[in-house]
Amino acid sequence: MDPLSLIRGVLDTTEDAARALVGRERLRLAVTGLSRAGKTVFLTSLIANLVAAGRGARTLPALDEAVGGRIRRVQVVPAGTETVPRFDPEAHLGALAADPPHWPERTEDFSTLSIAIDVERRTSLGGLLPDRRVTLDLLDYPGEWLLDLPMLRQDYASWSAATLTRLRRGARAEVARDFLAFIDALPGDAAAEDALAKRGYTLYRDALRACRDEHGLRFLQPGRFLNPGPRGEAPLLWFFPLPEGARGGLASLCARRYAAYLDDQRSNFLDPFFTRFHRQVVLVDVLGALHAGQEAFEDTAEALAAVAAVVSGGNWLERLLGAAPTRVAFAATKADHVPSRARDSLAALVEHIALGARGRAEAGGAATSFHALAAIRCTEDAVATLEGQAFAAVRGILLNEGRGATIYPGEVPMRPPEPAFWQSGFFRMPEFRPPRLDPAGASGVPHLGMDGLLAWLLGDAL
Ligand code: GDP
Repeated sequence: MDPLSLIRGVLDTTEDAARALVGRERLRLAVTGLSRAGKTVFLTSLIANLVAAGRGARTLPALDEAVGGRIRRVQVVPAGTETVPRFDPEAHLGALAADPPHWPERTEDFSTLSIAIDVERRTSLGGLLPDRRVTLDLLDYPGEWLLDLPMLRQDYASWSAATLTRLRRGARAEVARDFLAFIDALPGDAAAEDALAKRGYTLYRDALRACRDEHGLRFLQPGRFLNPGPRGEAPLLWFFPLPEGARGGLASLCARRYAAYLDDQRSNFLDPFFTRFHRQVVLVDVLGALHAGQEAFEDTAEALAAVAAVVSGGNWLERLLGAAPTRVAFAATKADHVPSRARDSLAALVEHIALGARGRAEAGGAATSFHALAAIRCTEDAVATLEGQAFAAVRGILLNEGRGATIYPGEVPMRPPEPAFWQSGFFRMPEFRPPRLDPAGASGVPHLGMDGLLAWLLGDAL
């Protein structure tokens, strides 16, 4: 570990311990997920429900129980002076309170918000102490960047080999046609010219975008190629995978930029933010991936397994970065698209794919747990009749048509499905209209499973 991060780690620990003594603590919770996973909706619901709980509403029963009903007040703390944009709960809740309600605009890149939670304290004899204030710092960041973590364990040559193998398969090979033709036509000793490097980068980035947008693929690296963040597309990004045997100046330039890119991600994102999270939630739209078909599902599963191996392998991350989250929850979002009895299967499916072929995460890492949730519940359980047979279904209002509909979504497999599942090719995923919120927000937001997740993530710290 470098001396600076060691010192900072010690300072942070001392600072946290001192705060604990005077009853003022900070807990940093990072929320991430691949784009459209439901981060914005998740944070909006979390804030609305915590604030409502502070006003006495019982919107988060499992959390309430985990902390013995001691939550007294919850408020959003005014923005500090950080340069990171502020998550805007007022605008997001405004969208849900509109007539008709609509889904909040999604946030790109980074955003942050702090919430002060005042918790009642008692002495061992039951006497009352002044309330304890726990400040919950929320940080929302693009899950695409998480996919850079596995790259820290690979050098340029092995990353190139693995990436090109994947790129030459299935739907990728088709949308990466121009990029693959470009690298195949390059002489093995191509010179280090920036015009070439930029051309290769542009073709590679466009291929990644097409994989995501046209085929719902998720294992797409490097993350900043898809989501460049506030610092835009610098020449640092002008690299791409090259086949084995490329030895010229261009190959060395790409290898140098690969290393420089990872250093930059480390000093601008991992060190200042990632190492300071105490807790982490990784959101995954597993149902959306099932709906997108076999290739998209398997790719999402592979991406999630790669991320899970790193974020929950605390030992390795700690050695590399100096610190890592101690609890990591993986949650399948939009669980209100399936009836209640399918939600246990959904949570089991997330666990299976997150643990991937590797089995349990590396020993000594973060504690992990697996959930199925709907940050904003839009449906009720219902029964659909198909060809005279009754099926468990859900009923909600379709977003575009504004009319109620009973939807049989299809079966959720408990494990990554067998080929026969894809042959039947049936999984429905319409967009539902969110319920309209009362503008005062006093009663929180209807959800499924947010309280269980928060109880596991935060219960011990409150
Ligand atoms: P982000 O890109 O990860 O921030 O994704 P969003 O939070 O903007 O969510 C993307 C879309 O997914 C929303 O506009 C909704 O259509 C849908 N969605 C997200 N969460 C839920 C949920 O809990 N239930 C339902 N039915 N839809 C959801």
